[in-house]
Amino acid sequence: MAEQLERQRERAPARFGGLEYAPAPEATDHVTIRSDHGLLIGGRWVEPASGRRFKTINPATEEVLAEVAEAGEEDVDAAVRAARAAAKVWGRMPGAERAKYLYRVARILQERAREFAVLETMNGGKPIKESRDVDLPLAAAHFFYHAGWADKLDYAFPGRRPAPLGVAAQVIPWNFPLLMAAWKLAPALAAGNTVVLKPAETTPLTALRLGEVLLEAGLPDGVVNILSGAGATGAALVGHDGVDKVAFTGSTEVGKAIQRTLAGSGRKLTLELGGKAANIVFEDAPLDQAVEGIVNGIYFNQGHVCCAGSRLLVQESIAEPLVDKLKRRMATLRVGDPLDKNTDVGAINSRAQLDKITELVASGEADGAEAWQAPCELPSRGFWFRPTVFTSVAQSYRIAQEEIFGPVLSVLTFRTPDEAVEKANNTPYGLSAGVWTDKGSRILELANRLQAGVVWANTFNRFDPTAPFGGYKESGFGREGGRHGLAAYLDLS
Ligand code: NAP
Ligand code: MG
Repeated sequence: MAEQLERQRERAPARFGGLEYAPAPEATDHVTIRSDHGLLIGGRWVEPASGRRFKTINPATEEVLAEVAEAGEEDVDAAVRAARAAAKVWGRMPGAERAKYLYRVARILQERAREFAVLETMNGGKPIKESRDVDLPLAAAHFFYHAGWADKLDYAFPGRRPAPLGVAAQVIPWNFPLLMAAWKLAPALAAGNTVVLKPAETTPLTALRLGEVLLEAGLPDGVVNILSGAGATGAALVGHDGVDKVAFTGSTEVGKAIQRTLAGSGRKLTLELGGKAANIVFEDAPLDQAVEGIVNGIYFNQGHVCCAGSRLLVQESIAEPLVDKLKRRMATLRVGDPLDKNTDVGAINSRAQLDKITELVASGEADGAEAWQAPCELPSRGFWFRPTVFTSVAQSYRIAQEEIFGPVLSVLTFRTPDEAVEKANNTPYGLSAGVWTDKGSRILELANRLQAGVVWANTFNRFDPTAPFGGYKESGFGREGGRHGLAAYLDLS
């Protein structure tokens, strides 16, 4: 018997040696990365007027992947002028014609999905299984969905005469670089606007490659212009007076600055900002399912998710068993090489973000909360943070108030549904929330009382292009996705 077991162990080490999986790295040889990138202005790749460039790295290895151009004010001006000129062509084109380009973009993204997924993971640090199974399919879905609307705007808004706004300035963050570009571009283009897009400083590569896809799809020159750069490029773009609409996704702090810049200008603005979502688990919830939802809620994409379920509100009667189950589950999370298909938690996006997470976690410990971290080996190079859960958390602690944007969960308890609602809403943010319960009536009641743009019931972090997404309070205003998202790019007077 012992001999037989030994033989089985040799044949299937993974099953008998705990949860150690053999490495399963995704190949990268099908992804060629140019050593230097230009700016996409007026349908051509051009050098930045300033001649300035910056390096972009792989956060899992700290290796330099490429140099990209840093757009300055002159480039912003050229891009806005190109978009303005293109608006005459694009805005007047029949919707059914615009739709053809969007369908083409969606199909090319599907054809090149593997290349894009690998590049997204290399430049941003997220696990390949997420870029492959979430970011890429959703990015394509956004183009498909909005292609369908392009020739039906009159039906989407009956009794109105929908007209494009003109030139849209779009500034996006680093946590879903390609997906955020798709969320922004697809509705703007379907509605007949032209665009100047600025990707985040740390993750420009998939947005620039999307620029290649747009050219491959034959999009008329200047309809989409892509300017890599840092915060100053974004500020120059949103402050340019040739822009008719600004769409921003990022931090509340920068969102407020943009709102001040635009105040009184008459230009339209939508803001998708930070969050501190409550994931609320009632005692009648299916606990094992809830644990999966909690893990997905906060450890998905290393917690670099604006709608992450970063506050777990658990009913007191089940707090102990639930937290025990959660820790057991966290101990099985595989942290490490994002290109490995078995990896659950990848690299932190940048050193600056790692510093921010480290500082907030230290504040939680200093305040008196109890931290528990999943036992795992971290690679020696790159930026990493162990999946962490805090118990004994008071509502006033910074870890319960501020957005950490990392794999860190704060657990709070409640006794009654009223107390759960009160605690959930006790935050300046209002982007998302989760409710876990067996009772449908309770879900409906809470969905009405929670100040959150999205409320998930018995699930978390589900996205679909048909569903409007956006915030309350300091999480911003305006919606992306669905008919609401389309309206944000149209003059409906
Ligand atoms: P961020 O600093 O606000 O950056 C967002 C984008 O704005 C980046 O492209 C950034 O460029 C640019 N930017 C920086 N300063 C600017 C300025 N003064 N004017 C115009 N643009 C400027 O945010 P982040 O730290 O990259 O991203 C994390 C934050 O985004 C979190 O707070 C998160 O909650 C939020 N977020 C929200 C959503 C949502 O849908 N609500 C989605 C994702 C992320 P650089 O990259 O060079 O800084
Ligand atoms: Mg920033």
